[in-house]
Amino acid sequence: MKLSSQLMDRILKNIQDVKERVASACKLAGRDPKSVTILGVSKTYGVDSISAAFDAGLDAFGENYIAEAVQKKQALASFNIKWHCIGPIQSNKTRLVAENFDWVHTVDRIKIAQRLSEQRPKYLNPLQVCIQVNVDSAQTKSGVKAEEVLPLAIQIADLPGLQLRGLMAIPDPILDYEASCQVFRRVKCLWDDMRQYGLAVDTLSMGMSLDLEAAIQAGSTIVRVGTAIFGVRDNPLPPIKT
Ligand SMILES: *Cc1c(COP(=O)(O)O)cnc(C)c1O
Repeated sequence: MKLSSQLMDRILKNIQDVKERVASACKLAGRDPKSVTILGVSKTYGVDSISAAFDAGLDAFGENYIAEAVQKKQALASFNIKWHCIGPIQSNKTRLVAENFDWVHTVDRIKIAQRLSEQRPKYLNPLQVCIQVNVDSAQTKSGVKAEEVLPLAIQIADLPGLQLRGLMAIPDPILDYEASCQVFRRVKCLWDDMRQYGLAVDTLSMGMSLDLEAAIQAGSTIVRVGTAIFGVRDNPLPPIKT
């Protein structure tokens, strides 16, 4: 793939900036920067942007729309990329997800988990999954309520096609750092309860372009970063002609 050097330079610079933000947040929190994975959220962006980010050192990408993700995965089949599903999953999409992704961050119903487990091809590793939790549950949005996390986790831990890795949350964006830390700490507490119970979870998927520092302070191990790497989605770069 021939990439425009302008696109590559811009994405490389953005990734360096995000790595620096992660490093400073880790320093402040007394954590090893290696304990935080940067997931490049590439929804709506093309394979040229993803391959530029791959060349700049990212190897894990998050996609929200299943069909779009599968197309990109096929186009980038020669790249050793880990694909993460971070969008809502309808029952009729579970097979595509089970067959194409390495990770799913958005499991919030046992029925979906069971289907993913049954449909995971035997020749692949178990699908790595996080339960999505809704910790600022004022409005109706995806994710289980806090009190539903542990019962669902215990059921998922038994499914042979899945490996339960932890929790994922998308709190409403709050610009106040301390307030944001507090919301993320609620997720961390639920995760601590899971570990206390004896579940071998190691992943907290939380923090995006605007709030990754607060998420890292609260213990995030995967930050899902779109805009800060690829640009504002409503105004993406024009497709690059090759
Ligand atoms: C789009 C999206 C992101 C990335 O958001 P940015 O603000 O662009 O970094 C992260 N997580 C989920 C679930 C998303 O849908």
